[in-house]
Amino acid sequence: MAGIYIHIPFCKQRCTYCAFVSGAPLFCRRKYVEVLKKEIESRLDKWVSVDTVYVGGGTPSMLERGMLKEIFDSLSKACDMRAKEITVECNPDSVDKEFCDEIISAGVNRVSIGLQTANDKLLKCVNRPHDLSSFLRAWESLSPIKNKSVDIMMGLPGQTIEDLASTVDFVTGLNPQHISAYSLTVEDGTVLKESGFVVDEDGEADMYDVMSDILNKKGYRRYEVSNFCLPGYESKHNSSYWDLSDYYGFGVSAHSLVKGVRIANTDDFDKYVGGDFVASKEKCDFVEEYIMLSLRTAAGLSISRLFDFGFDILNERKEQIERLVLSDLIYIDGDRIKLSDKAFYVMNDIITDLM
Ligand code: SF4
Repeated sequence: MAGIYIHIPFCKQRCTYCAFVSGAPLFCRRKYVEVLKKEIESRLDKWVSVDTVYVGGGTPSMLERGMLKEIFDSLSKACDMRAKEITVECNPDSVDKEFCDEIISAGVNRVSIGLQTANDKLLKCVNRPHDLSSFLRAWESLSPIKNKSVDIMMGLPGQTIEDLASTVDFVTGLNPQHISAYSLTVEDGTVLKESGFVVDEDGEADMYDVMSDILNKKGYRRYEVSNFCLPGYESKHNSSYWDLSDYYGFGVSAHSLVKGVRIANTDDFDKYVGGDFVASKEKCDFVEEYIMLSLRTAAGLSISRLFDFGFDILNERKEQIERLVLSDLIYIDGDRIKLSDKAFYVMNDIITDLM
C-alpha cells in the first residue's frame, strides 16, 4: 500500500512566514491541473494500491470548482484506489458549500483547515487572508465532513501566551477531531526573515507547555510532537511518513519515497508546467530517517523495525541508551524506545545521540 501527496501551489496572498511553493499565478490553474493529471497518469499504474491521499499546498481550495474532482478522477483511473483516508487542506477564505459538496462527491472524508490564531490582529499582521468570522463561516460550510483538523501556530510576532491559550480554548470548543500545532520558524526568503524578526525559543517552549496542558485536559492525545487528536483520529497519511512507508508526491515541489528512493520534484513552477518534473533522486537512509522521525512520535521507535533496516540499536548504541534511560529521558516499552515527557526539550540531542 502507498500514500499519495498532491501539491497545489496557489494562494490568495502570501503569509509573511511562508516558505512553501505557493505563489503560482491564479490564471495558470487550468494549465497546472492538466500537467498534474499527466504526471499522475505517467507515474502511477494499476499495480499501485493506495490507502491514503493528502492534497496540500498552497491552498487546494483556491482551485476553480470542479478541478479537485478532475484530479481525483484522474487518480482513480491511474491506480488501485483503496483509500480509507482522503484529506484536503483548505483555508477559510476559499471555502463554501460548493467546495464542500465537490470534495464530498470526490470521496474526500477529512479536511485540514488553517486557522493559525483566533486573534484577528495577529492574522492581519502575518498577512493571512481570513479573519475569525470567515473561519466560522467556513467551519459551518464544512459541517458535513466529520473528520476535521485545525492548524494553529505558536510564536507569531506579538502573540502572547494568553492569545495562544484563548485560540486553543476556541478551537477545542469546536470539537475538531485533530489539531496540528506548529512553532513558527523563520525561513530564508520570507518577508518575516527580511523584517529581522527573531523567534523567541523560550517563549515558544512556554506556549507549547500551555497548549499541551489545555489539549490534554480536553481529551486530545499528543501522538507526534506537533499533532494531537481525539482517540482514534490520528492522521493515517502523516503516520505513514513517520513510518517510512512508500508514498508518491505529485505536483511542483512534491516529494516521493518509492522503493527506497527519495524523489524531489522541481520547485520551479515554469519547469514543472513544461513537463520537467523531477529535480533529484537519492537513496533513502532508512536508519537515520527512521530514528529521526519515529522518536518524535508517541509510539516511539520500533527496535525490530530498525533491525530490519540493518541497525541493531540495542548493541550499537548500548552506552547511550543506558545513559539516557538512567537520566529518565527515554524508556524501553517492549519493542519500542520512547521519549519521556521531560525529554521534549532535548529531543534533537537525543536523536543525534542515537543516530
Ligand atoms: S496559506 Fe499556507 S501556503 Fe499559502 S501563503 Fe500562507 S503559509 Fe503559504
